[in-house]
Amino acid sequence: MKTSTVKSIRPYIRPILDFPKPGIQFWDITPLVKSPAALHEAVDGLVEPFADAGVNLVAGMEARGFIFGALAAAKLNVGFIPLRKPGKLPYDVQSQRYDLEYGSASLEVHLDAVERGDRVLLVDDLIATGGTAAASCELIRSLGGDIVGCTFVVELEALGGRAQLAGERIHTLLEL
Ligand code: AMP
Repeated sequence: MKTSTVKSIRPYIRPILDFPKPGIQFWDITPLVKSPAALHEAVDGLVEPFADAGVNLVAGMEARGFIFGALAAAKLNVGFIPLRKPGKLPYDVQSQRYDLEYGSASLEVHLDAVERGDRVLLVDDLIATGGTAAASCELIRSLGGDIVGCTFVVELEALGGRAQLAGERIHTLLEL
């Protein structure tokens, strides 16, 4: 599924050239989260297609996924679970490695964060290559959770991240 474009949030997402390294165009969402109206619109838009989908947990990836994920969880009246970079979570964890353009990275989740049959909505600010989201889905499934959908504020369409999430219900607010 490909859904919608919320054009009104576009002015609040600014491109920063050569960050964090030369050749990268970074999409900065800090103006969006600073604006009460734009933030409301983004969070409402992220969860709207999943309001009746029986979601009982939202998962968000460090770090900007925490902002949108926690607000989405509150909007859906469900709990939030953080997916974190290695070594940050204090209790027993499950890890998932994934490939980056150069090298690899990992995400971790607490072992007791997800129970068999939990219906999880995955939230992040942006999908680029889709590697982070695909690893997050794997992590949640490895603990017995079901992925109800994956929802993002921004999709960098040219990078084709959707292909990594074949079979998932994907929702994005803005395609850039
Ligand atoms: P990917 O795994 O390639 O889909 O990358 C997605 C993750 O990296 C998300 O958590 C984004 O916050 C971050 N990210 C990747 N590329 C960008 C970009 N050009 N601007 C802002 N964030 C990015």
